[in-house]
Amino acid sequence: MSKNIQAVRGMRDIPPEQTPLWHFLESRVRQVVESYGYREIRMPMLEMTELFKRSIGEVTDIVEKEMYTFSDRNGDSLTLRPEGTAGCVRAGIELGLLHNQTQRLWYQGPMFRHERPQKGRFRQFHQIGVESYGLSGPDIDLEILLLSARLWRVLGVAGLELQLNSLGTPTERLAYRAQLVDYFTAHRDQLDEESIRRLEGNPLRILDSKNPELADLLAAAPLLSEHLGETSRSHLQTLCDGLTAAGVPFRLNPRLVRGLDYYSRTVFEWVSDRLGAQGTVCAGGRYDGLVEQLGGRATPAVGFALGVERLIALLEENPPGDHATPHLYLLPTSGDDEAAVMLLSERLRDQVAGLRVVTHCGGGGLKARFKRADRSAASHALILGESERQRGVVALKALRSDGGQQELAEGEPLLAFCRALVATECAAGRSD
Ligand code: ATP
Ligand code: MG
Repeated sequence: MSKNIQAVRGMRDIPPEQTPLWHFLESRVRQVVESYGYREIRMPMLEMTELFKRSIGEVTDIVEKEMYTFSDRNGDSLTLRPEGTAGCVRAGIELGLLHNQTQRLWYQGPMFRHERPQKGRFRQFHQIGVESYGLSGPDIDLEILLLSARLWRVLGVAGLELQLNSLGTPTERLAYRAQLVDYFTAHRDQLDEESIRRLEGNPLRILDSKNPELADLLAAAPLLSEHLGETSRSHLQTLCDGLTAAGVPFRLNPRLVRGLDYYSRTVFEWVSDRLGAQGTVCAGGRYDGLVEQLGGRATPAVGFALGVERLIALLEENPPGDHATPHLYLLPTSGDDEAAVMLLSERLRDQVAGLRVVTHCGGGGLKARFKRADRSAASHALILGESERQRGVVALKALRSDGGQQELAEGEPLLAFCRALVATECAAGRSD
């Protein structure tokens, strides 16, 4: 027999028992972003390679070594998107969404990076991104941070730390860059190969190195905050004041640089200490130069992307109520009752919003029918046989606890019972 074909390394299936958690996350996120007036945009998963080189930057981990790039049959170089911001800006320019207007957009979907797979790090992973265009002040930065803080509350994820920094303007970074190059050149013997390469191309990125051997050197490096001009400083201060007024705790982290080139002024990360080395759940910042860099008119922008798999890992520690298990398994005791059961199932779905009903199909003996009811994981079975049909009742049996059968009249008493099943579940769900 030939060997089974397996999934591509670093690319995972999401098995059916996990999709309810994904649905929970996706529906709550949608509800929150819509409550701030953000509209969903959907972009292709493939873009011209040039797009990512020009936006993310040639001397970055992503462009240097993580992209899935290939030539198509026309010889065009295409890349599976490693992130969503570049495509969102490309689409915004192409669709005429950015010029002379403000936009609040969000997107979701798979991203692809050829990294070493490990806990919280995959080659296909999912991001939800939120981007705002046309607004340059700290007010919109604040809105985006408050939106993200609300996401964690609504999802019931506690213990994330907000880290904040300012990368200043390109001019401010230039003076800092020169100082940084001097510092690292003086300690060149301590740098690793990658950092030596970055010394010329992109010295700021050395600060983002994950090599523990560089930790002391990085900790003693000069700080960008000393080079910030008045406007950058007050932008950051206003944002901090806004967060404080809204009761959102944060920590200024002057070492936070972010892995992509296009940021300016505000950058931030939401970090968990429960995910090991892959602790950043959500990251973003202001990228005022990117729209122009990609050929549009200069447009200020700010946004973030959250890593869905990392958030799912946190939700798994403290799972919300299960919203996929059926409430009821409807069981005809014989072939003669099957048509009536099918119609009753339809009626219950019509009349009780949110009720999940599995109808027995496929016949079988009585024992086999009950076995299937049990396997469905439903909390109750509704049983309909000839005697019940004649009397206009159904038999109700709790499948997850002991106790015999009871009878319910098919009209209002049955509906009231079904509504109560749904209501109990909602009461156990998370706050909005
Ligand atoms: P990291 O430092 O962990 O590599 P990054 O700076 O490369 O992250 P971003 O490009 O800012 O990450 O992406 C935003 C978020 O997407 C990250 O904070 C993380 O939650 C998630 N993410 C990034 N890369 C991966 C991956 N390979 N697998 C799973 N999630 C990822
Ligand atoms: Mg990375």
